[in-house]
Amino acid sequence: MTGRRKMPDTPMRSLSADVVIVGGGFVGLALACALAEHGLRPTVVETSDPDAALARGFDGRASAIALTSRRLLERIGVWEKLAEEAAPMLDIRVSEGGSGLFLHYDHREVGDQPFGHMLENRVLRRALLERLRELPAATLLAPARLGSLDRHVDHVRAVVVNGESIKAPLAIAADGRGSRVRDDAGIRTTRWSYGQTAIVTTVEHERSHGFVANEHFLPAGPFAILPLLPETRSSIVWTERSAIAPAIMALDDDAFRRELWRRFGDFLGNVRPVGPRFSYPLSLQYAAAATAPRLALLGDALHAMHPIAGQGLNMGLRDVAALFDVLLEARASGQDLGSRAVLARYQRWRRFDNTLMLAMTDGLNRLFSNAVPPLRLARELGLAVVHRMPLMKRVFMRHAMGMVGELPQLMRG
Ligand SMILES: Cc1cc2nc3c(=O)[nH]c(=O)nc-3n(C[C@H](O)[C@H](O)[C@H](O)COP(=O)(O)OP(=O)(O)OC[C@H]3O[C@@H](n4cnc5c(N)ncnc54)[C@H](O)[C@@H]3O)c2cc1C
Repeated sequence: MTGRRKMPDTPMRSLSADVVIVGGGFVGLALACALAEHGLRPTVVETSDPDAALARGFDGRASAIALTSRRLLERIGVWEKLAEEAAPMLDIRVSEGGSGLFLHYDHREVGDQPFGHMLENRVLRRALLERLRELPAATLLAPARLGSLDRHVDHVRAVVVNGESIKAPLAIAADGRGSRVRDDAGIRTTRWSYGQTAIVTTVEHERSHGFVANEHFLPAGPFAILPLLPETRSSIVWTERSAIAPAIMALDDDAFRRELWRRFGDFLGNVRPVGPRFSYPLSLQYAAAATAPRLALLGDALHAMHPIAGQGLNMGLRDVAALFDVLLEARASGQDLGSRAVLARYQRWRRFDNTLMLAMTDGLNRLFSNAVPPLRLARELGLAVVHRMPLMKRVFMRHAMGMVGELPQLMRG
């Protein structure tokens, strides 16, 4: 990989690439690794400093990586760099706060593979950056701010402030939910806020979690306890009403621990927060189109969803794998990578899958973040019914593993 540090007043350098990717988050980096491994030349423009982004205080989250996402990370040479730090999720236990009802998903009911793995975001970012640096066909410009992106009939030109000018047949917007590239292209988004905030922290507990992910549905929203390594550490995603979340964030350590304990329970013995607290306001957002002339949208720039089912990044990686297939096929048949026909194929492929997942996560959150008696009864009945219907349970489990819809090559078994 070639790279550089931004220097003030550096004369403009002209680069050419096969794809210019704006945004070097997980999705942008994963696409760059996949393409560079197969001989295409991606250039990634990322605002933040990669070294600062690896610090503990940068992003306290951990992500549930579904089985199909793990396959993708294996195929692009990233998994081997983090496998020892990934905690397998063998079972998932969903419970309705206070009712005593729960659903238990056991991975053995659908095969011998875990549902997925829990990974600290810091670890995934480090492994992706390490892999990209090994690939000579890739260029990472970071920290670098995009000055302009002009889309012409037969090419795009991205200009970095005080830096390079990059010419390519195709641009990718992987610049997250606030995507400027998407907005500048005039692609509208639909967005609504859930009035909920996710409080994220890491805890240590007395007993082993046994590699089980627990999700308690409480009136304010889901409270997830997700297994990390070692076995006495878990990541917490605690959904609260946004009106209350700032007060919880401001509690002193003792009071925070008491509030956490009330929701967590004592099934893992004594529990102690050990990491910093982070908060993320939650909203659903989707773009009206996945493409515009010479532009494709990926990841949160295209769809941002509630973390209730831990699927945002997994869906972003499905975008990566689908676009990878489409671009490799285009190259093999000598097509222009940014042509209408190529982009139309990507748009068609992703539309159905993304709409389905957005609707599912939105529906789940509405059903479960509610104490209205008829809805409460419906979900209690729902849990009991699903528990007794092995076929329906298997459908849910395959969904959690990402094994639904038309799988791109990088995600197939
Ligand atoms: C609390 C919480 C828990 C979650 N848990 C899970 C989970 O368990 N599993 C899961 O699958 N998903 C989860 N998600 C969702 C997941 O984190 C996101 O879907 C994922 O990080 C999106 O990745 P991305 O690369 O598309 O966007 P981002 O991570 O937002 O990356 C965008 C990048 O673009 C850069 N950028 C922005 N503008 C510019 C510009 N103009 N020029 C250059 N660079 C730019 C930014 O610096 C950033 O690095 C969770 C989300 C939340 C809030």
